[in-house]
Amino acid sequence: MTTAVLVLNCGSSSLKFAVIDPENGSRMVTGLAERVGTPDVAATIKFVGTDGALGAASALKLGAENDHRGVLAAVLEVIESWAQEHSVDLVAVGHRIVHGGEAFAASVILDDTAMAAVRACIPLAPLHNPANIAGVEAAQHVLPDVPHVGVFDTAFHQTMPSYAYRYAVPTEWANEYGVRRYGFHGTSHRYVAARAAQELGRNADPGLRLITAHLGNGSSLAAVRGGRSLDTSMGLTPLEGLVMGTRSGDVDPGVLGYIHDRTGADVSAITDDLNKRSGLLGLSGISNDMRTLDEAADSGDQKAQLAIEVFAYRLAKYIASLTVPLEGLDAVVFTGGIGENSRTVRIATLGHLTHLGLRLDPHANQRCVGGVGGQITVATDEPGTPVALVVPTDEELVIARDAAALTR
Ligand code: AMP
Repeated sequence: MTTAVLVLNCGSSSLKFAVIDPENGSRMVTGLAERVGTPDVAATIKFVGTDGALGAASALKLGAENDHRGVLAAVLEVIESWAQEHSVDLVAVGHRIVHGGEAFAASVILDDTAMAAVRACIPLAPLHNPANIAGVEAAQHVLPDVPHVGVFDTAFHQTMPSYAYRYAVPTEWANEYGVRRYGFHGTSHRYVAARAAQELGRNADPGLRLITAHLGNGSSLAAVRGGRSLDTSMGLTPLEGLVMGTRSGDVDPGVLGYIHDRTGADVSAITDDLNKRSGLLGLSGISNDMRTLDEAADSGDQKAQLAIEVFAYRLAKYIASLTVPLEGLDAVVFTGGIGENSRTVRIATLGHLTHLGLRLDPHANQRCVGGVGGQITVATDEPGTPVALVVPTDEELVIARDAAALTR
């Protein structure tokens, strides 16, 4: 019997699922349902073949119910009969949960008390937590006999000291409404920090100083010392910090009042613009997708070039600022769709950081793409010189491992 964990990532209208061997990280089943809750809901599924690779995606037959519970019931029926046929024992379900507030500094088994605390975090993540909760409830309904484990995007950053997580705002905002910095992408930062420490041969070193750069549609940095997050670029919400696909990252909060006065738009409309019409999309007017911008910039599009410059400049500035909590730097770690693949962004970013001793190796940079990681700075014998690495992330594997560990 092979043991495996079902990993679920339930968004407001999507459901990503995977059956993963937590020992070696291999995927046995993966799939995606989109437009959940609408008449156009559709799902695809892939199964591992005898060669160990996932086969082609096929459409999954769904029942009449188009909500999370209905879709998950159809998904689980197929997965359970596949598991029986292939002697796979599903020992746990791991759920990605976006916001754990101050209640969760680590992954937990989702019993009634934990679920009440997840519900209490809904005001902090009104778009994400309700969908995550719907996924947990649906999965618990269909699989009542296995432990369900919650893995939180915010948990890794709960080690930030108060001077890093407090905003300089009225104290009652913090005390009564939880207005503070929480940070996100914690699962990814934790995974790549551990992998980078291994690659540097320093995984037991409590003094190892890493800046992990998760750069995807959403982007954030973390300052990680000895495996603990000391600071991060996202805040109360995932809008703070770096320039992202469609999110502005940092802007003067005065912009809200100013745009309101000039256009009459209300707070939610302006916030929506900052979340959905800004970032690379707002700057370029072309796309939120770095691949498209890379190509447009190469063919001379000046707005695409500016978008990449702003992205890289902000990123470099933030990396330098995170050397403060670390009191130095041993390595910058690039991950996420952009970090793992965009050579242009890595060139532009490290180009701003030569004064820290980071010197890009163009050949190594060229090699690191499509899941290939490694060091991308010039090797040097000079002690104390930081390096830059590319480390492909694997958030689902962290969720599977946490779920398996808590189940044991
Ligand atoms: P993620 O959210 O981690 O899936 O990352 C999505 C981002 O990664 C998008 O902006 C993609 O354009 C970008 N990306 C993926 N592959 C490449 C590539 N080969 N070159 C540049 N950017 C890429």
